[in-house]
Amino acid sequence: QNLSVTKTNSVYYVAKKICDNVSSAQLLLPEHFDLDGKALKQLMSFAGVYHPNGGAVKAVKATPDFHAGSLVPVGAVLSTTKDFIIPQAIGTDIHCGMRLHVADIDIALWQEKKPLLVEKLRGDLLLGSRDLPMAISSFTALFQHGLLGWIDETKKQPMGDLQAADFKQLESELESIFEYGSLQGGCKWAPESHTTDKRNCIRDASLATIGGGNHFVEFQYLEDIADNKQAFAWGLHKGQLSIMIHTGSRALGLHVGNYWNDKAKQAWPNGEKFPESGIFPLYGELASDYFSAMNTAANYANLNRLLLAEIVRRRIREVFGANIEMPLVYDAPHNIVTQESDCYIHRKGATPAHFGQPVLIPGSMGDPSYLMMGLGNQAFLCSASHGAGRAKPRHEMFRLNRDGQDIGLGCIDCITLKEDRLIEEAPGAYKDINAVVDVQIQNGIVSPVAKLVPLLTFKG
Ligand code: 5GP
Ligand code: MN
Ligand code: MN
Repeated sequence: QNLSVTKTNSVYYVAKKICDNVSSAQLLLPEHFDLDGKALKQLMSFAGVYHPNGGAVKAVKATPDFHAGSLVPVGAVLSTTKDFIIPQAIGTDIHCGMRLHVADIDIALWQEKKPLLVEKLRGDLLLGSRDLPMAISSFTALFQHGLLGWIDETKKQPMGDLQAADFKQLESELESIFEYGSLQGGCKWAPESHTTDKRNCIRDASLATIGGGNHFVEFQYLEDIADNKQAFAWGLHKGQLSIMIHTGSRALGLHVGNYWNDKAKQAWPNGEKFPESGIFPLYGELASDYFSAMNTAANYANLNRLLLAEIVRRRIREVFGANIEMPLVYDAPHNIVTQESDCYIHRKGATPAHFGQPVLIPGSMGDPSYLMMGLGNQAFLCSASHGAGRAKPRHEMFRLNRDGQDIGLGCIDCITLKEDRLIEEAPGAYKDINAVVDVQIQNGIVSPVAKLVPLLTFKG
């Protein structure tokens, strides 16, 4: 593939020669991590992508949790000219992200009441027993203006048992959500079933759901604080219970994502050779249309995480007392295109890490997760890893387990309906989170704030 690879400290510089152009990428990897050939090939297929009518990829970076995906590697960050977007570069789980809450609950008490909490949450999170009819007007407001619109509209036609006090709390928590969870989308880009239904309200089967794979709702213990000042500012202290939620835009993101992946291919200019890479960028008006459609799905992902957190908050209050606050620390996406300066930044499995921004880096259900603060490192497009990253494919995990190898099952407490999930998602499937985090600290991408250790994980 005509690649030249050089390395200084932990940073790899990879250059690819395409005809007369040389395009390059930068990868940040811990010293002892291997450079995955397949993932690198996928990453480099984005370098040098341009549209015949104008616009191009400007820079390509990879975060230390970097690994191969189906077409696009996970842990990839691209910057492009502002009129140019590649829908494939963020995938179909648009705005998948992490959300973190804390609660002042004594851990011994939490352990004591855990069976009761699990019993209540099993139905809500795994069996679909929650019932959340939502007004079409709330969907419309959500799609157009995100959570700000949704709160305003849903206050008028309350949903389930949400009360005025709940809306007040939700409103006050908006500032702890990436871009207030409120992006400019549009009903035009949402499925018709959600905007023009004859009924006044619908029960959307994918709303307030975790989804499969490595999505989760996890209870953790705040074991250690690295930065007292920052932890205080974010309302954290040692010994707290934390709740981390990882899910995305579910059926809605899939609908929007698939539609636009096809559309980008169909819209490729007549007479132009199809790109060998199989990557189809959008240029001009279509790129802005995609941006609105993507925002529509992103607004849905924001509500999905918000409602899951609300469900947990209600159960926590039932079990531990109505006065428990469970404030939001931060909610950030990791599959999204954002407009930054005069570029579009595409992040696929990468978290925004602008200066002062909270950054959530989960490990696995048996390893610590970290809360960090972004340092706005421009060389890495103000982005950090969104996890430890998968190290072993799912089928390999089954083989290792059959062979009797230790895949880390001993240190987990996971509630799931799917036995296979335990093996696929076992701690041994993931890279070394401490190495992933350390290399980002050493390179000035993030600084550490708090360490969270898993207590109990729900997996879809
Ligand atoms: P992705 O967004 O690519 O699906 O995964 C995000 C990251 O979440 C993974 O790279 C992994 O480090 C982390 N992760 C996966 N499962 C769990 C879990 O059950 N608990 C925690 N804390 N982290 C997990
Ligand atoms: Mn996802
Ligand atoms: Mn994700």
